[in-house]
Amino acid sequence: MQRGTNLGRLGGYNQAVILDTIRRAQDGVARVELVERTGLSPQTISNVVRRLVDQGLVREDRKTVSGPGKPRTVLELEVSSRFAIGIHLDPAVMTVVALNLTGQVVARARHAMPGGPEPDGTVESMAAAVNGLIEEAGLDRGRILGVGLAAPGPINMPEGMMVSPPMLPDWDRVPLREPLERLIDLPVLLDKDVTAAVVAELWAGEREAPANFVFIYLGTGLGAGVALGGEVLRGSSGNIGEIGHFPVPDEVPLCGCGRRNCVGMSLNFAGLIRQAIDAGIFPPNHDAQQLPETTAAILELTRLAEAGHPEALAILRRAARNLAFAIAQVVNVLDVDTVIFGGPMWDALAGLGLPVLREELPRDVVAREIHGLEVVGSSQGPEVGAIGGACLILDDAFSPRASGLLLGN
Ligand SMILES: [Zn+2]
Repeated sequence: MQRGTNLGRLGGYNQAVILDTIRRAQDGVARVELVERTGLSPQTISNVVRRLVDQGLVREDRKTVSGPGKPRTVLELEVSSRFAIGIHLDPAVMTVVALNLTGQVVARARHAMPGGPEPDGTVESMAAAVNGLIEEAGLDRGRILGVGLAAPGPINMPEGMMVSPPMLPDWDRVPLREPLERLIDLPVLLDKDVTAAVVAELWAGEREAPANFVFIYLGTGLGAGVALGGEVLRGSSGNIGEIGHFPVPDEVPLCGCGRRNCVGMSLNFAGLIRQAIDAGIFPPNHDAQQLPETTAAILELTRLAEAGHPEALAILRRAARNLAFAIAQVVNVLDVDTVIFGGPMWDALAGLGLPVLREELPRDVVAREIHGLEVVGSSQGPEVGAIGGACLILDDAFSPRASGLLLGN
C-alpha cells in the first residue's frame, strides 16, 4: 500500500494515492478507511475527494452494510468516466482495445497489418483503427485518456520508434508516436510489448498480481518483462528482457548472432517447421515463408502433438525444455517467485508446454528450496499486448509513482 504525504505541493501525488486506493477497494471504501490506508489527513482526503468527484472519476452515493453497525457511504471508481486505448503491433495483425478504468475490455478490433514498404500508411491505418473503435463503441472522445502502443522490441523510447523490429524490416527507426499523436489528437505512449504485458498483469489481471514475476512473451519473437516489488522494470532505455540469445544445452540452427545455442532460435518457427520436415511430419516441399502460413504450420504441429504424434511431441517438448532452461537463468538473476507465460502464441502452446515447463523449470532454479516457483499462463489471452498498451495509459494516469500524470493535478 502506497502512503501519501500531507505536503500540499504534492497534491498530484496524493490524488494518485487516493485514486489508487479507491480503485483497489473491491466493494468501495469509506472516507475513514481512506484515512487509515493512505496516512493522509481527513482534510487532505476531503479536498482531493471533492476534486475527484468534480472530475467525475469517483462517486460517493452508495451505502453498504458490512456486519453490525450503521451502513457506511463508500467512495467508488466511476468505471466508465475515462477510457484508455491500446494498440498491439504484431508483424501479422494489429489489435486495438478500449479499457474502462477497472481494466475491462469494452471494445476490441483486429486488423491485418498492411505491411509493405510504406509504414507511413500503417500509422494512418492505426489512426483509422483507433477512430473506428471510438466510433463503433460510442465512446466520448473527451473521456479517452490516451493511446498506448505496444510494439516488438527493441524500441527507441524517446523517439517513439521501433529499432530493427523482427519481421518488420521496413519499420526500422520509423517514428510512430508523434505522427500517431498528430493524427488522432490524443496522447500516445510507446513501450515494448513484453513490458506492456507486465503492466497488464499489474492492472487488469483477474487475480491479484504477484509482486515479483517475469512475464515470458511468446509472439513471433521471445521476450521477458519484469516486475519487482510490484513495479514494472524497464531498464535504462526501456529495452529490458531481451533473452532471445540466452544459451541452451542443445545445438540449434545458426542464429543471426553467429551462435548455435540461442533459446530464441530453438523456438524459432521456421526452425521448428524444419525439424518437422526432417521428421517427415510435413512434406519436404512445405513452404512456410510467409507469416500466416508459418503460424498455421506451428498450430498444426501443436495439434498433431496433442493428438499423440510422437515426433511432433518430441520436437515441441525439446523446445519447451530449452525454454525452461533459459528462463530458469532469468529467475535466478531476479529471484522472482512467479513466471507468467502469455502472448499471441501462448494459447496454442499452453496445453503441451505448461506441464513441461512446470516440471523442468524449478530444476534449474537455485532458490527452489527457499521459495516455491509458480508457473502459470496469463489470464489476459492473446490480446495481452493490446490490453497492456491501454494499461500503460492507466498506469501513467493513475500510478502514484508516475511523474507526468495525464489527468493533471
Ligand atoms: Zn543468438
